[in-house]
Amino acid sequence: MEKGILIVISGFSGAGKGTIVKKLLKTYDNYALSVSMTTRSPREGEREGIEYFFTDQESFKREISAGGLIEYAMYCGNYYGTPRGYVEDQLQAGRDVILEIEIQGALKIKEQIPECLLLFVTPPSAKELERRLTDRGTESDDVIRRRLARASEESEGMEAYDYIVVNDKLDECVREINGLVDAARRAPVRRKAFIKEIRDELKEFAKGAE
Ligand code: 5GP
Repeated sequence: MEKGILIVISGFSGAGKGTIVKKLLKTYDNYALSVSMTTRSPREGEREGIEYFFTDQESFKREISAGGLIEYAMYCGNYYGTPRGYVEDQLQAGRDVILEIEIQGALKIKEQIPECLLLFVTPPSAKELERRLTDRGTESDDVIRRRLARASEESEGMEAYDYIVVNDKLDECVREINGLVDAARRAPVRRKAFIKEIRDELKEFAKGAE
C-alpha cells in the first residue's frame, strides 16, 4: 500500500484555512488532521486536544529536546509545533495527513519530507484579508495589525509552495484542494510501491522471454 500524502496548508492568518480544513475533513474520508502543540492561550471556544494541545514554554521545550516534534516555529510570540507520532502513524496507514502550519514550519517539513505537498491559501486580495480579520472579532486591533504585518512578510515566501489556492468561495476552494491532492497522488514520487510492484512483475515476464 502507498503511504498517505503529507499535505501542508499555510496561508495568511484570516485566509480561512481552519474553515477549509474542517470542510475537507467533513466532505472526504481520506484525510486526517494533525493537532499541533502551542504555548498560545486558548481562544474562546477552543478545546484541548481538538484545536491544539495547549501547553507552557517549559513543556514545549522539553518536547523539542525529546524529539517529539517534526517541526516547530515561533509565531507572534508563541511556539507552535507538530507532534511526530500521530503524523507518522497516519501516513503509514495510508491516510492523507493535513498540517495547518505557518511558512517556516512548512519549509522545514519540505526539507525533511520532500514528497509532501505544500499548499498556500490566500484570500483574493489584501483588502479582503483585512476585512476577514476584523470581522472574525476574536482579536484586538493590535493583534490584527501584527497579523497583517506578518502576512506581508509571509507573502515573500509564496513561491516556495507547490500551489497557490485562492479562497474566494469555500466550496470551490475545498474541491480545488481535493483535486490537487488527487493529482499529487499520481506523481511518481508518491507511487513508489506501485512502481516497484509493476517493475518486479515485468522483470518476471522478461525472464520468461529470455
Ligand atoms: P493561530 O494562533 O491563529 O491558531 O495560529 C497562528 C499560526 O500558527 C497559523 O499560521 C498556523 O497555521 C500556525 N501553526 C499552527 N500550528 C502550527 C505548528 O504546529 N507548526 C507551525 N510551524 N505553525 C503552526
